[in-house]
Amino acid sequence: MTNKLRNFSLELFPPQTPEGAEKLRAARAQLALLKPRFFSVTFGAGGSTRDRTLDTVLEIQREGHAAAPHLSCIGSTRESIHTILEQYRAHGIRHLVALRGDLPSGMARPGTFRYANELVQFIRVETGAWFHIEVAAYPEVHPQAKSPLDDLLALQRKIEAGADSAITQYFYNFDAYAHFIDECQAVGINVPIVPGIMPISSFSSLARFSDNCGAEIPRWIRKKLESYGDDSASIRAFGLDVVSGLCQQLLANDAPGLHFYTLNQDALTTQLWQRLHLS
Ligand code: FAD
Repeated sequence: MTNKLRNFSLELFPPQTPEGAEKLRAARAQLALLKPRFFSVTFGAGGSTRDRTLDTVLEIQREGHAAAPHLSCIGSTRESIHTILEQYRAHGIRHLVALRGDLPSGMARPGTFRYANELVQFIRVETGAWFHIEVAAYPEVHPQAKSPLDDLLALQRKIEAGADSAITQYFYNFDAYAHFIDECQAVGINVPIVPGIMPISSFSSLARFSDNCGAEIPRWIRKKLESYGDDSASIRAFGLDVVSGLCQQLLANDAPGLHFYTLNQDALTTQLWQRLHLS
């Protein structure tokens, strides 16, 4: 598959402060030069970033780029999701990343929607074919899944409910993705499943984040990163080699695109993009 046919996208999170918004504007100006297919903007569970997600998406649209808000349903009511969908429609937004999300600590009630397939189904009932809907997929298995098969069937339910494509949790094991794609095909999941790519800029935050979301840092990568201590230049250089190697392997094996978790930083994603000759 040529790069022209693939989907290269960039994920941002909505800034919390005016200074954060200013920094994000600067990072986005650089990232926009890469000409991604779209920017996606995350959404805090329980609606905690609702307005900031929308504001960021509208700003990206005004800058002339395609934007897809995420929408997570845990802790939300039918009415609140309905209102958000109508807001998105009114602003001409046609692309969503639909998720369950995780209950924030202290919030005990899951709300109307227990799982993301219920959200996808609700979006389709409410808005028909208006939105292109992406969902999340987990090559290394979602940490709360009862079994790998259960998790695969959960993805299948999201596709059957009307999702058009999926973006994966990040991973550093190519084999996990390849095996997962084989298993998807075996149960008849044929939508594009775009690998999520996490650039490496710091060991401690990557380790913390990975423990929470169930992404494995292979031992050899962990050991090397640990050995660099505070030497962030070496961590970034090694991370670039590892992640660009993974991306090359994914593209050589016909991955339908790459979705970069930029963490609102432009430098590492830009370097990866250039190394991979994506534009
Ligand atoms: P689901 O698909 O509902 O799955 C959640 C768990 O429930 C899985 O373990 C699944 O196996 C299990 N399950 C599903 N159906 C059933 C069932 N019927 N019975 C029993 N178990 C079941 N979080 C945010 O809060 N905001 C974001 O913007 C955000 N963006 C993300 C983007 C991507 C690309 C990815 C990969 C993740 C993102 N997340 C985000 C994190 C995501 O919300 C969490 O991983 C969350 O724990 C699961 O969401 P899901 O949509 O995959 O849930």
